Amino acid sequence: MNPKLLINGELVAGAGQRDIINPATEKVITASPVADGRQLETAVAAARAAQPSWALLGMAERGELLQRFAAAVAEQGDEIARLLTLEVGRPIALSHFEVQLVLKGCAFYSAQRLDPEVLVDDDNTTVAVHRVPLGVVAAILPWNAPLYLAINKLAPALMAGNTLILKPAPTTPLATLKLGEIASGIFPPGVINILADDNDLGPALVRHPDIDKIAFTGSSATGKKILAAAAPDLKRVTLELSGNDAAIVLGDVNVEAIAPALVFGAFFNSGQICAVIKRLYVHESVHDGLCAAMAAALAQAVSGDGLDPDTHYGPIQNSEQYEKVKDFLEEARVTGRILCGGKVPDRPGYFVEPTLVTGLTDGHRLVDEEPFGPILPIIRFRDIDDAVNRANRSPYGLGASVWSSDRALAERIGQRLEAGTVWINQHCAIDPGIPFPTSKQSGIGVEAGRAGLLEYTNLKVFNINKHG
Ligand code: NAD
Repeated sequence: MNPKLLINGELVAGAGQRDIINPATEKVITASPVADGRQLETAVAAARAAQPSWALLGMAERGELLQRFAAAVAEQGDEIARLLTLEVGRPIALSHFEVQLVLKGCAFYSAQRLDPEVLVDDDNTTVAVHRVPLGVVAAILPWNAPLYLAINKLAPALMAGNTLILKPAPTTPLATLKLGEIASGIFPPGVINILADDNDLGPALVRHPDIDKIAFTGSSATGKKILAAAAPDLKRVTLELSGNDAAIVLGDVNVEAIAPALVFGAFFNSGQICAVIKRLYVHESVHDGLCAAMAAALAQAVSGDGLDPDTHYGPIQNSEQYEKVKDFLEEARVTGRILCGGKVPDRPGYFVEPTLVTGLTDGHRLVDEEPFGPILPIIRFRDIDDAVNRANRSPYGLGASVWSSDRALAERIGQRLEAGTVWINQHCAIDPGIPFPTSKQSGIGVEAGRAGLLEYTNLKVFNINKHG
């Protein structure tokens, strides 16, 4: 393993290095290169210089290169999945799933086209709306799903004719740098640049006058700073931020049937996904039965090293987040009732058992805030209007779900939920081809899907006098 930055088509060492820790063992996987301000300047200048000819290439040619890139990623899929598991800590099957999402994202976006839309074409005038690239995009990523969140930016940004600087999270650069190694043999120099950092280059990218758009995924707190820092230049931004997704379970469900799907929807990636279930509102008539069924489903769960194929749940990705999750756990122990899990295993690695907590309600920190770890509060409700109001009380609005055997009723309830995505009888079903909109303080703009491509364009109107 010899990770390198990608700057202006060249794989280069960093100005510095940072040890990357395997969260399942707390041992160093390898040292990652980290870029300094000078390397950032070189990367931005290269992206700027490459952009006009990249945009002139046309979408069909750009799509072909994206497909070649995907084919090369597929060839090295096993190695990329292994790197993801080593640095993120998650089960290897989930890492393979993430690689598949990368391939799906490339396939979806490489087939997209942005043909001009003719609004008027009469004897005197032709008016057509074109979609043009923004210029240079800086994509700034978190640590929980490095490649899925990278491809949802890289593929549409490039297809729309932009060039890119990609900055992975400081604790999870390895799989992303591997993509850079693959990209270096396929894309023209400067089109993709990948800069790993020591958690210090984000603000410099956001402020940089030669960057036209910031595509950010991460916490709402950082998103607000980015929005403020982008304001002086009126840079375009897409912000995919924190969530506190509510799921509402009606009294007509079959608890045994839905318990595994709810466990998956809450504990996927050990709860470290923006849009997993973080508050579970359950009708009082099925509350106890559902709690028992979910606890039974979790009793089979195996936590461990993600490279072991028997592992269901990996550790928390980094020590800082581990401390935050343990804090939430301690509070749950004091203010609620731990139904299952609740322990911090005495072993190396940032492990916290998947935990169900009852006896809490809105106003408790575990219900109001996002733990971003494997702890789920289950809240009893009697009246559906009350449950909807409580679900909407959050400042966040990423996803929500309704669970019922009456689909029409579930959809009517879903219409009242303030969220970018409402799932019915499932949660966190994501796909690069399906838009993932934000609402409230969960962000600005849309990632994924056709709408995600349009976010990397400006409208440009051609209004032509035919008699001029
Ligand atoms: P974070 O906001 O701390 O960091 C994310 C990235 O921003 C990192 O690359 C970091 O180096 C960079 N950064 C930090 N400060 C910056 C600044 N001032 N300017 C520019 N860049 C800066 O987030 P995290 O802890 O890595 O990720 C966890 C959070 O991400 C959770 O809140 C989660 O809900 C959210 N998230 C959201 C989505 C979504 O699609 N909405 C997806 C995944 C994670």
